[in-house]
Amino acid sequence: MEPLSKATLRETREHNERLVLATIYDGAPDGTPVSRADAARLTGLTRTTVSAVVDMLLAAGLVREIGRGPSTGGKAPIQLAVPDASRVLIGVDLGDREFTAAAVNLRGEILHRAEVPSEDADGAEAVELALGLIAQILGAVDGRVLGIGIGAPGLVDTTDGTVVQSVKRSWRELPLGAIVAARFGLPVYVANDSQAAALAEHVFGAARAQNLIGIKVGEGIGAGIVLNGALFQGDGFGAGEIGHTVVDPMGDRCRCGRTGCLETLASVPALLGRLQAELGRPISLGEAVMAAERGDPTVLAAVSEAGRHLGQAVAGLIGALHVRRIVLAGPMAAFGEPWLAAVRTAAQAGALASLAGDTTIELGGIDHIVVLGASALLMTRELGLSLRPIHPPRRGSSLERGLEPAAPPSRARTGTPVPLGAQRGGGGV
Ligand SMILES: [Zn+2]
Repeated sequence: MEPLSKATLRETREHNERLVLATIYDGAPDGTPVSRADAARLTGLTRTTVSAVVDMLLAAGLVREIGRGPSTGGKAPIQLAVPDASRVLIGVDLGDREFTAAAVNLRGEILHRAEVPSEDADGAEAVELALGLIAQILGAVDGRVLGIGIGAPGLVDTTDGTVVQSVKRSWRELPLGAIVAARFGLPVYVANDSQAAALAEHVFGAARAQNLIGIKVGEGIGAGIVLNGALFQGDGFGAGEIGHTVVDPMGDRCRCGRTGCLETLASVPALLGRLQAELGRPISLGEAVMAAERGDPTVLAAVSEAGRHLGQAVAGLIGALHVRRIVLAGPMAAFGEPWLAAVRTAAQAGALASLAGDTTIELGGIDHIVVLGASALLMTRELGLSLRPIHPPRRGSSLERGLEPAAPPSRARTGTPVPLGAQRGGGGV
């Protein structure tokens, strides 16, 4: 059984490397840099093992010695850090209106960004458009590229990067990850765009939580679910696909072919369609946002209605998962408080009071959330890096107080040592 033991040894070594790297990336519980001895204490590994792993990480340029820390008696220990620029992440958002690609550092800061209009691109043409954009951003990168993360619309098999179905782009069983990997010779990870958005909030967000739901509302509506620090995708990667749940069987025709899906009531096109019918002329999202800001009653009523339908769906998620932190993102979030208030009210009315009472529903604070989520997917799967989550919100925080600033990150170390690092199975293509 030699092959098995070799594999086991390799897995152990890889696990240890990820554990040590993640510990150096995070720093000590108070946020200060760690030494080799600190890393051994925090990981439970021997100092010999940690030293060997650190040597390897130093040689790979993933870790740097940054000087001596405060002495506690003897010689002050050498402190270690993961330089932000030691690897460059390429994050891609295959959005409805434009494709966006960016070079991102290991702390989620965008270094370069490029966009291309994508509204009418379909099938193979849309793939070529994405490849051209990725080539453009790779040409602008100065540094060592870790790989490419992609947030795509539709149902995505993240184990091999296949887009199982995307109605928007007419993709079926498209091996997108394999196509991009073959073109650029880099590791590629693909996830659904809403799932990527939830990962962005989990990995790079201000108030990281062990469990969270990110809901993205634009042309489509999808939720990304992070449970116990890992993306939860369900049995067939479709967890959180709430947009095509029928809400009103007597409602409007949906682009999926059925009638009265949530998207026909709560998406941006649904809102703009309703406004067009009421105003007697087409209206853009930007115009509608400005009208809402001016207090236009017609627009505000339509925004509230869209928010109410989304809130009912959120109530279902709260009932199913009792996740206390829910973040809303996507183009619809531009309506801000009036929309958020409608979502909160309907979610609270629709869920058991004791569950809804300790749930916070907030607007996400991350720009280019899918680009950063795709980068986070790449970083967590490839390196196992993801800051330790803070504790879940205390009981008593409420929907009403949902916008209060998050508790300072305590970074307490509990539970499994490497939240996303351990689930490497499958991954890159
Ligand atoms: Zn539908």
